[in-house]
Amino acid sequence: MALFGKKDKYIRINPNRSLLNETAQKKPEVPDALFSKCPACKRLIYQKELGQEKMCQHCSYTFRISAFERLALTVDEGSFEEWFTGIETNNPLDFPDYLEKLAAVRKKTGLDEAVMTGRARIVGQEVALGIMDASFIMASMGTVVGEKITRLFELATEQGLPVVLFTASGGARMQEGIMSLMQMAKISAAVKRHSNAGLFYLTVLTDPTTGGVTASFAMEGDIILAEPQALVGFAGRRVIETTVREQLPDDFQKAEFLQEHGFVDAIVKRQELRETIGYLVRLHGGKK
Ligand SMILES: [Zn+2]
Repeated sequence: MALFGKKDKYIRINPNRSLLNETAQKKPEVPDALFSKCPACKRLIYQKELGQEKMCQHCSYTFRISAFERLALTVDEGSFEEWFTGIETNNPLDFPDYLEKLAAVRKKTGLDEAVMTGRARIVGQEVALGIMDASFIMASMGTVVGEKITRLFELATEQGLPVVLFTASGGARMQEGIMSLMQMAKISAAVKRHSNAGLFYLTVLTDPTTGGVTASFAMEGDIILAEPQALVGFAGRRVIETTVREQLPDDFQKAEFLQEHGFVDAIVKRQELRETIGYLVRLHGGKK
């Protein structure tokens, strides 16, 4: 794959950045606000009623959670081993203030990049796991996200592990331009090699999964699950409406709409997700 072989030019490894395993095992944080407005049904919800799963009692919409919270809800306790930390972008386009912005977001979120990758057990099943976090520059996909997910699939292929990937993204990262778009093909090639090895790949689409992520690995899972009311699409509603000059239906790009049209296999509530993932991985042979 000579096409993807020049990555030293745009990413580097920072050996001084420690693994984030300690923070990864932290308990989820509860936001300070007493009430939250549900983005899906617009009703006010008392924060405490959301519970650990952060689910709206009225419409089942599940609020966005951090990768750390997702980890705590999904994997068997203490089973997560983080992979591929310390990969940094070289800011290939010299985009102004990009590196400073990254440093600030890293500090704020405690995350290495917009995706957390590693190995974990889910209901006893060994998996290679990726979790994207929308609080990190809208989980946009730049070279580091692309590199981490590619490596996740490559190491999973080597170790005979199924891959479980929670997707969330605003799309390609504009600060890295064409380099970001290239990640779609790079990851897809790694997904295909993982698939050729007879290994199982499960995606869970969470709110929001859009742009280049939807147009590549989010939709390449052997089974595609989604959380209720999650926004899933390629271009945004306004872009499409002004292009086709037509009003789109209200539920357009909602997970339920996508399931109706055959893009999503099942919509699973957050509190049933962990068990469902464990069951599906076991059903498809698990670790080879
Ligand atoms: Zn709601």
